[in-house]
Amino acid sequence: MTRSEPSYEALTETTAIALAKTLELFSADADLICHEIGDGNLNMVFRITEPAAKRGIIIKQALPYVRVIGEGWPLTLNRAVIESEALRHFAKHVPQYVPEIYYTDPTYAITVMEDLSHLTIVRTGLASGSTYPLLSTHIGEFLAKTLFATSDFAMGPQEKRELALQFHNPELCKITENFVFTYPLFDHETNDVEPILRPIAEQIWGDQSLLLEAAKLKQTFITHAEALLHGDLHTGSIFASDEETKVIDPEFAFYGPIGFDIGLFIANTLLSALAREEDGRDALLFHITNVWDVFVDTFSTLWQQNNVEDFASIEGYLEYQLQHIFEDAVGFAGSEIIRRIFGLAHARDIEAIIEDAHRLTVKRNAAALGRDFIVNRSLYQSPAQLVQALQQVV
Ligand code: ADP
Ligand code: MG
Ligand code: MG
Ligand code: MG
Repeated sequence: MTRSEPSYEALTETTAIALAKTLELFSADADLICHEIGDGNLNMVFRITEPAAKRGIIIKQALPYVRVIGEGWPLTLNRAVIESEALRHFAKHVPQYVPEIYYTDPTYAITVMEDLSHLTIVRTGLASGSTYPLLSTHIGEFLAKTLFATSDFAMGPQEKRELALQFHNPELCKITENFVFTYPLFDHETNDVEPILRPIAEQIWGDQSLLLEAAKLKQTFITHAEALLHGDLHTGSIFASDEETKVIDPEFAFYGPIGFDIGLFIANTLLSALAREEDGRDALLFHITNVWDVFVDTFSTLWQQNNVEDFASIEGYLEYQLQHIFEDAVGFAGSEIIRRIFGLAHARDIEAIIEDAHRLTVKRNAAALGRDFIVNRSLYQSPAQLVQALQQVV
Protein backbone atom coordinates (compact mmCIF):
# COMPACT_ATOMS: atom_id res chain seq x y z
CA MET A 1 0.00 0.00 0.00
CA THR A 2 1.33 3.43 -0.86
CA ARG A 3 1.02 6.27 1.57
CA SER A 4 -1.28 8.96 0.20
CA GLU A 5 0.08 12.44 -0.43
CA PRO A 6 -0.75 14.97 2.26
CA SER A 7 -3.85 16.92 1.31
CA TYR A 8 -5.46 20.13 2.48
CA GLU A 9 -7.22 20.23 5.83
CA ALA A 10 -8.57 23.26 7.64
CA LEU A 11 -6.75 23.84 10.93
CA THR A 12 -8.49 23.94 14.28
CA GLU A 13 -7.09 25.63 17.38
CA THR A 14 -5.79 22.21 18.48
CA THR A 15 -4.13 21.21 15.22
CA ALA A 16 -2.66 24.73 14.90
CA ILE A 17 -0.87 24.20 18.23
CA ALA A 18 0.36 20.80 17.05
CA LEU A 19 1.72 22.39 13.88
CA ALA A 20 3.57 25.10 15.83
CA LYS A 21 5.27 22.38 17.88
CA THR A 22 6.14 20.29 14.82
CA LEU A 23 7.80 23.37 13.34
CA GLU A 24 9.82 23.72 16.56
CA LEU A 25 8.74 27.30 16.95
CA PHE A 26 8.22 26.54 20.64
CA SER A 27 9.84 23.96 22.90
CA ALA A 28 8.12 20.56 22.94
CA ASP A 29 6.84 20.97 26.50
CA ALA A 30 5.70 24.61 26.17
CA ASP A 31 2.18 25.44 27.40
CA LEU A 32 0.49 27.07 24.43
CA ILE A 33 -2.79 28.88 23.96
CA CYS A 34 -4.46 29.33 20.58
CA HIS A 35 -7.25 31.63 19.45
CA GLU A 36 -8.67 32.16 15.98
CA ILE A 37 -8.61 35.97 15.61
CA GLY A 38 -9.33 36.45 11.90
CA ASP A 39 -11.60 39.38 11.16
CA GLY A 40 -11.09 39.61 7.40
CA ASN A 41 -13.46 38.42 4.72
CA LEU A 42 -11.35 35.62 3.35
CA ASN A 43 -9.07 33.70 5.71
CA MET A 44 -8.46 32.10 9.10
CA VAL A 45 -5.87 33.62 11.43
CA PHE A 46 -4.66 31.70 14.50
CA ARG A 47 -2.67 33.39 17.24
CA ILE A 48 -0.61 30.97 19.30
CA THR A 49 1.03 32.24 22.46
CA GLU A 50 3.24 30.88 25.17
CA PRO A 51 2.17 33.07 28.10
CA ALA A 52 5.07 31.95 30.30
CA ALA A 53 7.60 33.21 27.74
CA LYS A 54 5.46 36.15 26.52
CA ARG A 55 5.97 34.92 22.95
CA GLY A 56 3.56 34.37 20.09
CA ILE A 57 3.28 33.47 16.44
CA ILE A 58 0.57 33.82 13.81
CA ILE A 59 -0.63 31.06 11.51
CA LYS A 60 -2.74 32.35 8.63
CA GLN A 61 -4.58 29.76 6.57
CA ALA A 62 -6.57 30.25 3.40
CA LEU A 63 -9.84 28.35 3.14
CA PRO A 64 -10.80 26.86 -0.24
CA TYR A 65 -13.72 29.30 -0.30
CA VAL A 66 -14.52 32.89 0.75
CA ARG A 67 -14.82 32.89 4.54
CA VAL A 68 -17.72 35.36 4.84
CA ILE A 69 -19.76 33.66 2.13
CA GLY A 70 -19.02 29.96 2.62
CA GLU A 71 -18.43 26.95 0.41
CA GLY A 72 -20.75 28.26 -2.30
CA TRP A 73 -17.99 30.63 -3.35
CA PRO A 74 -14.80 28.65 -3.98
CA LEU A 75 -11.53 30.58 -4.13
CA THR A 76 -8.02 29.43 -5.01
CA LEU A 77 -5.76 28.30 -2.17
CA ASN A 78 -2.85 29.61 -4.20
CA ARG A 79 -3.50 33.03 -2.66
CA ALA A 80 -1.63 31.83 0.42
CA VAL A 81 1.44 31.13 -1.71
CA ILE A 82 1.11 34.55 -3.36
CA GLU A 83 0.87 36.20 0.07
CA SER A 84 3.92 34.40 1.49
CA GLU A 85 6.00 35.05 -1.60
CA ALA A 86 4.98 38.71 -1.76
CA LEU A 87 5.92 39.23 1.89
CA ARG A 88 9.28 37.55 1.30
CA HIS A 89 9.80 39.63 -1.81
CA PHE A 90 8.95 42.90 -0.04
CA ALA A 91 11.37 41.91 2.74
CA LYS A 92 14.23 42.07 0.23
CA HIS A 93 13.58 45.79 -0.19
CA VAL A 94 11.87 46.92 3.03
CA PRO A 95 12.28 44.28 5.77
CA GLN A 96 11.37 46.89 8.37
CA TYR A 97 7.82 47.20 6.99
CA VAL A 98 6.68 43.56 6.78
CA PRO A 99 6.25 40.72 9.29
CA GLU A 100 8.95 38.07 9.31
CA ILE A 101 7.82 34.83 7.62
CA TYR A 102 8.82 31.64 9.46
CA TYR A 103 7.23 28.98 7.29
CA THR A 104 5.04 28.48 4.23
CA ASP A 105 3.07 25.39 3.26
CA PRO A 106 1.36 25.45 -0.15
CA THR A 107 -0.62 22.21 0.44
CA TYR A 108 -2.23 23.51 3.61
CA ALA A 109 -2.25 27.11 2.29
CA ILE A 110 -0.48 28.24 5.46
CA THR A 111 1.76 31.18 6.27
CA VAL A 112 3.44 31.22 9.67
CA MET A 113 4.63 34.66 10.61
CA GLU A 114 5.69 37.14 13.26
CA ASP A 115 3.01 38.09 15.77
CA LEU A 116 2.31 41.81 15.43
CA SER A 117 -0.16 42.01 18.29
CA HIS A 118 1.84 44.80 19.95
CA LEU A 119 0.63 47.00 17.07
CA THR A 120 -2.91 48.04 16.06
CA ILE A 121 -4.69 47.70 12.72
CA VAL A 122 -4.57 51.27 11.36
CA ARG A 123 -8.24 51.50 10.39
CA THR A 124 -9.22 50.60 13.95
CA GLY A 125 -6.65 52.92 15.50
CA LEU A 126 -7.62 55.87 13.31
CA ALA A 127 -11.27 55.34 14.26
CA SER A 128 -10.40 55.59 17.94
CA GLY A 129 -8.36 58.78 17.59
CA SER A 130 -4.79 57.59 16.94
CA THR A 131 -2.87 59.53 14.30
CA TYR A 132 0.29 57.44 13.70
CA PRO A 133 2.65 60.34 12.94
CA LEU A 134 5.09 58.17 10.94
CA LEU A 135 2.49 56.17 9.01
CA SER A 136 2.67 57.98 5.67
CA THR A 137 6.46 58.36 5.79
CA HIS A 138 6.78 54.60 6.21
CA ILE A 139 4.11 53.73 3.65
CA GLY A 140 5.51 56.23 1.13
CA GLU A 141 8.91 54.56 1.45
CA PHE A 142 7.39 51.05 1.35
CA LEU A 143 5.55 51.93 -1.87
CA ALA A 144 8.43 53.67 -3.64
CA LYS A 145 10.96 50.96 -2.83
CA THR A 146 8.80 47.93 -3.65
CA LEU A 147 7.23 49.48 -6.73
CA PHE A 148 10.41 50.94 -8.21
CA ALA A 149 12.38 47.72 -7.64
CA THR A 150 9.84 45.59 -9.51
CA SER A 151 9.23 48.03 -12.38
CA ASP A 152 10.84 48.12 -15.82
CA PHE A 153 12.94 51.01 -14.55
CA ALA A 154 14.86 48.61 -12.29
CA MET A 155 14.48 45.19 -13.92
CA GLY A 156 15.39 43.69 -17.25
CA PRO A 157 12.56 42.23 -19.35
CA GLN A 158 13.34 38.55 -18.71
CA GLU A 159 13.63 38.96 -14.96
CA LYS A 160 10.49 41.06 -14.78
CA ARG A 161 8.46 38.59 -16.85
CA GLU A 162 9.48 35.74 -14.54
CA LEU A 163 8.43 37.70 -11.47
CA ALA A 164 5.13 38.64 -13.11
CA LEU A 165 4.46 34.95 -13.86
CA GLN A 166 5.20 34.03 -10.26
CA PHE A 167 2.53 36.55 -9.24
CA HIS A 168 -0.04 35.54 -11.83
CA ASN A 169 -3.16 35.96 -9.69
CA PRO A 170 -6.27 35.99 -11.92
CA GLU A 171 -8.88 34.85 -9.37
CA LEU A 172 -8.00 37.54 -6.87
CA CYS A 173 -7.69 40.18 -9.60
CA LYS A 174 -11.18 39.23 -10.74
CA ILE A 175 -12.52 39.96 -7.26
CA THR A 176 -11.08 43.48 -7.49
CA GLU A 177 -12.36 43.92 -11.03
CA ASN A 178 -15.86 42.98 -9.87
CA PHE A 179 -16.11 44.48 -6.40
CA VAL A 180 -14.09 47.67 -6.91
CA PHE A 181 -14.45 48.49 -10.59
CA THR A 182 -17.77 47.01 -11.71
CA TYR A 183 -20.55 46.13 -9.28
CA PRO A 184 -20.59 49.43 -7.29
CA LEU A 185 -21.20 51.30 -10.57
CA PHE A 186 -24.34 49.34 -11.42
CA ASP A 187 -27.45 48.33 -9.51
CA HIS A 188 -25.87 45.00 -8.63
CA GLU A 189 -27.25 42.57 -6.06
CA THR A 190 -24.00 42.48 -4.09
CA ASN A 191 -24.12 46.24 -3.39
CA ASP A 192 -25.02 47.48 0.06
CA VAL A 193 -26.73 50.86 -0.26
CA GLU A 194 -28.39 52.52 2.72
CA PRO A 195 -32.01 53.08 1.54
CA ILE A 196 -31.89 56.82 2.10
CA LEU A 197 -28.78 57.04 -0.11
CA ARG A 198 -30.42 55.20 -2.98
CA PRO A 199 -31.12 58.37 -5.02
CA ILE A 200 -27.41 59.21 -4.87
CA ALA A 201 -26.48 55.68 -5.93
CA GLU A 202 -28.93 55.95 -8.83
CA GLN A 203 -27.32 59.22 -9.90
CA ILE A 204 -23.99 57.42 -10.03
CA TRP A 205 -25.38 54.46 -11.94
CA GLY A 206 -26.84 56.85 -14.54
CA ASP A 207 -23.83 59.15 -14.81
CA GLN A 208 -22.43 58.36 -18.25
CA SER A 209 -19.25 60.40 -17.94
CA LEU A 210 -18.48 58.72 -14.63
CA LEU A 211 -19.12 55.24 -16.04
CA LEU A 212 -16.86 55.94 -19.01
CA GLU A 213 -13.94 57.11 -16.84
CA ALA A 214 -14.47 54.27 -14.36
CA ALA A 215 -14.31 51.79 -17.25
CA LYS A 216 -11.00 53.28 -18.38
CA LEU A 217 -9.60 52.89 -14.87
CA LYS A 218 -10.70 49.25 -14.78
CA GLN A 219 -8.90 48.66 -18.07
CA THR A 220 -5.78 50.33 -16.68
CA PHE A 221 -5.97 48.03 -13.65
CA ILE A 222 -6.25 44.96 -15.86
CA THR A 223 -3.63 45.78 -18.48
CA HIS A 224 -0.90 48.03 -17.05
CA ALA A 225 1.63 45.54 -15.67
CA GLU A 226 3.96 48.23 -14.30
CA ALA A 227 5.17 46.76 -11.00
CA LEU A 228 4.47 44.16 -8.32
CA LEU A 229 1.58 45.59 -6.30
CA HIS A 230 0.41 44.74 -2.81
CA GLY A 231 -3.06 44.81 -4.35
CA ASP A 232 -5.15 45.37 -1.20
CA LEU A 233 -3.43 48.22 0.62
CA HIS A 234 -6.33 49.66 2.58
CA THR A 235 -5.84 50.70 6.20
CA GLY A 236 -7.05 47.26 7.39
CA SER A 237 -3.89 45.79 5.81
CA ILE A 238 -1.53 47.94 7.89
CA PHE A 239 -0.46 47.48 11.51
CA ALA A 240 1.11 50.46 13.28
CA SER A 241 2.11 52.20 16.47
CA ASP A 242 3.55 55.69 16.86
CA GLU A 243 6.98 54.27 15.97
CA GLU A 244 6.43 51.26 13.74
CA THR A 245 4.51 50.32 10.59
CA LYS A 246 3.98 46.82 9.14
CA VAL A 247 2.13 45.90 5.96
CA ILE A 248 0.25 42.56 5.95
CA ASP A 249 -2.15 40.60 3.74
CA PRO A 250 -0.78 40.90 0.16
CA GLU A 251 -2.80 37.94 -1.17
CA PHE A 252 -4.00 40.18 -4.04
CA ALA A 253 -0.42 40.86 -5.19
CA PHE A 254 0.06 40.94 -8.96
CA TYR A 255 1.69 43.02 -11.68
CA GLY A 256 -0.46 46.11 -12.07
CA PRO A 257 -0.42 49.91 -12.31
CA ILE A 258 1.83 51.65 -9.78
CA GLY A 259 -0.90 54.14 -8.85
CA PHE A 260 -3.24 51.45 -7.51
CA ASP A 261 -1.64 50.83 -4.10
CA ILE A 262 -1.11 54.57 -3.62
CA GLY A 263 -4.74 55.27 -4.51
CA LEU A 264 -6.05 52.70 -2.03
CA PHE A 265 -3.98 54.14 0.79
CA ILE A 266 -5.11 57.69 -0.02
CA ALA A 267 -8.78 56.69 -0.34
CA ASN A 268 -8.95 54.84 2.94
CA THR A 269 -7.08 57.54 4.85
CA LEU A 270 -9.43 60.10 3.35
CA LEU A 271 -12.47 58.07 4.44
CA SER A 272 -11.10 57.95 7.99
CA ALA A 273 -10.52 61.70 7.85
CA LEU A 274 -14.12 62.28 6.71
CA ALA A 275 -15.40 60.09 9.54
CA ARG A 276 -13.61 62.28 12.09
CA GLU A 277 -14.72 65.49 13.74
CA GLU A 278 -13.12 68.52 12.15
CA ASP A 279 -10.55 69.12 14.90
CA GLY A 280 -9.02 65.67 14.44
CA ARG A 281 -8.92 65.73 10.67
CA ASP A 282 -5.69 67.57 9.86
CA ALA A 283 -3.45 64.83 11.28
CA LEU A 284 -4.96 62.41 8.75
CA LEU A 285 -4.98 64.83 5.83
CA PHE A 286 -1.25 65.23 6.45
CA HIS A 287 -0.86 61.54 5.56
CA ILE A 288 -2.45 62.11 2.15
CA THR A 289 0.04 64.79 1.15
CA ASN A 290 2.99 63.21 2.92
CA VAL A 291 2.59 59.71 1.45
CA TRP A 292 2.85 61.20 -2.01
CA ASP A 293 5.74 63.52 -1.11
CA VAL A 294 7.75 60.68 0.41
CA PHE A 295 6.88 58.40 -2.52
CA VAL A 296 8.13 61.04 -4.99
CA ASP A 297 11.36 61.73 -3.06
CA THR A 298 12.23 58.07 -2.64
CA PHE A 299 11.19 57.03 -6.15
CA SER A 300 13.18 59.94 -7.66
CA THR A 301 16.31 59.02 -5.72
CA LEU A 302 16.04 55.40 -6.86
CA TRP A 303 15.43 56.59 -10.42
CA GLN A 304 18.61 58.65 -10.40
CA GLN A 305 20.69 55.89 -8.82
CA ASN A 306 19.40 52.72 -10.49
CA ASN A 307 17.39 53.34 -13.62
CA VAL A 308 18.24 50.74 -16.26
CA GLU A 309 16.26 52.44 -19.02
CA ASP A 310 18.21 54.31 -21.65
CA PHE A 311 15.62 57.08 -21.54
CA ALA A 312 16.04 57.71 -17.83
CA SER A 313 18.07 60.90 -18.06
CA ILE A 314 15.85 62.61 -20.63
CA GLU A 315 14.67 65.91 -19.26
CA GLY A 316 11.07 65.75 -18.06
CA TYR A 317 10.72 61.97 -18.30
CA LEU A 318 10.70 61.28 -14.54
CA GLU A 319 8.19 64.12 -14.05
CA TYR A 320 6.03 62.65 -16.81
CA GLN A 321 6.05 59.23 -15.12
CA LEU A 322 5.24 60.71 -11.72
CA GLN A 323 2.37 62.69 -13.16
CA HIS A 324 0.98 59.58 -14.86
CA ILE A 325 1.25 57.62 -11.58
CA PHE A 326 -0.48 60.43 -9.68
CA GLU A 327 -3.33 60.65 -12.17
CA ASP A 328 -3.90 56.89 -11.90
CA ALA A 329 -3.69 57.06 -8.09
CA VAL A 330 -6.35 59.79 -7.95
CA GLY A 331 -8.67 57.80 -10.20
CA PHE A 332 -8.15 54.57 -8.27
CA ALA A 333 -8.73 56.46 -5.02
CA GLY A 334 -12.06 57.58 -6.49
CA SER A 335 -13.01 54.00 -7.42
CA GLU A 336 -12.10 52.78 -3.95
CA ILE A 337 -14.14 55.54 -2.26
CA ILE A 338 -17.23 54.78 -4.35
CA ARG A 339 -17.03 51.06 -3.61
CA ARG A 340 -16.59 51.66 0.13
CA ILE A 341 -19.85 53.67 0.15
CA PHE A 342 -22.06 51.63 -2.20
CA GLY A 343 -20.33 48.26 -2.71
CA LEU A 344 -20.19 45.11 -0.62
CA ALA A 345 -17.32 45.96 1.76
CA HIS A 346 -17.83 49.26 3.55
CA ALA A 347 -15.36 51.33 5.58
CA ARG A 348 -15.89 50.26 9.17
CA ASP A 349 -15.00 53.66 10.58
CA ILE A 350 -17.80 55.31 8.60
CA GLU A 351 -20.33 52.57 9.40
CA ALA A 352 -19.47 53.10 13.08
CA ILE A 353 -20.91 56.65 13.03
CA ILE A 354 -24.10 56.09 15.01
CA GLU A 355 -25.90 59.34 14.31
CA ASP A 356 -27.79 58.80 11.03
CA ALA A 357 -27.64 62.37 9.76
CA HIS A 358 -23.91 62.60 10.34
CA ARG A 359 -23.16 59.21 8.76
CA LEU A 360 -25.25 60.03 5.70
CA THR A 361 -23.53 63.39 5.29
CA VAL A 362 -20.14 61.70 5.43
CA LYS A 363 -21.24 59.17 2.81
CA ARG A 364 -22.68 61.87 0.54
CA ASN A 365 -19.47 63.88 0.77
CA ALA A 366 -17.37 60.81 0.12
CA ALA A 367 -19.44 59.88 -2.93
CA ALA A 368 -19.08 63.39 -4.35
CA LEU A 369 -15.32 63.29 -3.88
CA GLY A 370 -15.04 59.79 -5.32
CA ARG A 371 -16.92 60.85 -8.41
CA ASP A 372 -14.77 63.94 -8.87
CA PHE A 373 -11.52 61.99 -8.42
CA ILE A 374 -12.57 59.55 -11.14
CA VAL A 375 -13.92 62.04 -13.67
CA ASN A 376 -11.43 64.85 -13.12
CA ARG A 377 -8.34 62.87 -12.19
CA SER A 378 -6.20 64.58 -14.83
CA LEU A 379 -6.96 68.00 -13.34
CA TYR A 380 -5.47 67.16 -9.95
CA GLN A 381 -1.80 68.08 -9.96
CA SER A 382 -0.91 67.53 -6.31
CA PRO A 383 -2.21 65.87 -3.16
CA ALA A 384 -2.79 69.33 -1.67
CA GLN A 385 -5.56 69.71 -4.27
CA LEU A 386 -7.16 66.47 -3.09
CA VAL A 387 -7.16 67.83 0.45
CA GLN A 388 -8.63 71.13 -0.78
CA ALA A 389 -11.39 69.25 -2.57
CA LEU A 390 -12.21 67.48 0.68
CA GLN A 391 -12.23 70.72 2.61
CA GLN A 392 -14.65 72.21 0.11
CA VAL A 393 -17.23 69.45 0.49
CA VAL A 394 -17.24 69.13 4.29
P1 ADP B 1 -7.72 38.47 5.57
O1 ADP B 1 -6.94 38.12 4.37
O2 ADP B 1 -8.76 37.45 5.89
O3 ADP B 1 -8.26 39.88 5.51
P2 ADP B 1 -5.62 39.47 7.36
O4 ADP B 1 -4.25 39.06 6.96
O5 ADP B 1 -6.03 40.85 7.04
O6 ADP B 1 -6.68 38.39 6.81
O7 ADP B 1 -5.75 39.22 8.92
C1 ADP B 1 -7.00 39.34 9.58
C2 ADP B 1 -6.76 39.83 11.01
O8 ADP B 1 -5.92 38.91 11.71
C3 ADP B 1 -6.03 41.16 11.08
O9 ADP B 1 -6.94 42.24 11.00
C4 ADP B 1 -5.39 41.08 12.45
O10 ADP B 1 -6.32 41.39 13.45
C5 ADP B 1 -5.02 39.61 12.56
N1 ADP B 1 -3.64 39.38 12.08
C6 ADP B 1 -3.23 39.07 10.84
N2 ADP B 1 -1.89 38.96 10.76
C7 ADP B 1 -1.42 39.19 12.00
C8 ADP B 1 -0.09 39.23 12.58
N3 ADP B 1 1.00 38.98 11.86
N4 ADP B 1 0.00 39.53 13.91
C9 ADP B 1 -1.10 39.76 14.65
N5 ADP B 1 -2.36 39.73 14.17
C10 ADP B 1 -2.54 39.45 12.86
MG1 MG C 1 -7.18 41.60 5.46
MG1 MG D 1 -6.75 39.41 2.73
MG1 MG E 1 -0.87 55.22 -18.42
